[in-house]
This record gives sequence, structure tokens and C-alpha cells, in this order.
Amino acid sequence: MSHENVYGVGMDGETRCVHFGTELDVVALRFGCCAEYYCCLSCHRTLADHGAEPWPADRRTEPAVLCGVCGTTMTASEYISAGTCPNCASAFNPGCAKHYDRYFEWIDGTEP
Ligand SMILES: [Zn+2]
Ligand SMILES: [Zn+2]
Ligand SMILES: [Zn+2]
Repeated sequence: MSHENVYGVGMDGETRCVHFGTELDVVALRFGCCAEYYCCLSCHRTLADHGAEPWPADRRTEPAVLCGVCGTTMTASEYISAGTCPNCASAFNPGCAKHYDRYFEWIDGTEP
């Protein structure tokens, strides 16, 4: 898996997009509707020809998050529990926790 498999608006070499551009915004998320990786929900809205679906609970053991720095993929629970990339130790944006419910079907917005 590498950046060529990620879609994003104005995406840079570490999968930052025009919507989220800080040092920590280096993850891409996989969507249940098309099983493709996008930088964020806004990128999906802009670039996809269909509505976004969160990653489904029955596929929670499959990778659904990609580290934009090294291209490693991980499951949602690995991503949520680690907070950093298991391969390159890049720190991820803790603010993303507010949006987990939009990306992962089985997680509500209040769960850590
Ligand atoms: Zn989609
Ligand atoms: Zn975006
Ligand atoms: Zn990494």
C-alpha cells in the first residue's frame, strides 16, 4: 500500500489534504462504500461520485487506516489505541477522535 492508492484534494507526499494540513494530519481513512482510502471525509465528498459510508463493523479486523508518512496500514482499533504509527512512530492528530463515528461504524463519538 502506498500513496498512489490514496485520493485527496491537493494531497501532499504524506497524505495531508487542503482540509487538514498540520504536522499531525498524516493518516488516510478507508471508506466502507468503496473500500478506497481518502485523506478525509471532505476529500471523499469532493472526489467520489457517491455518498460516504463509514468502515463497517463486520470488516473491523481489516486495515482501514493508512499512515501517510510510511504507507503502513492498520486496523481502526490499532490506530485508535496506539495514537502513533506502529511502523514509523509518527504521531497522529488526537483531534481525529472527535470524528471516529464518521469513519468507523461501530464507534460512537464519545468513546475514546
Ligand atoms: Zn466511497
Ligand atoms: Zn481532505
Ligand atoms: Zn508510519
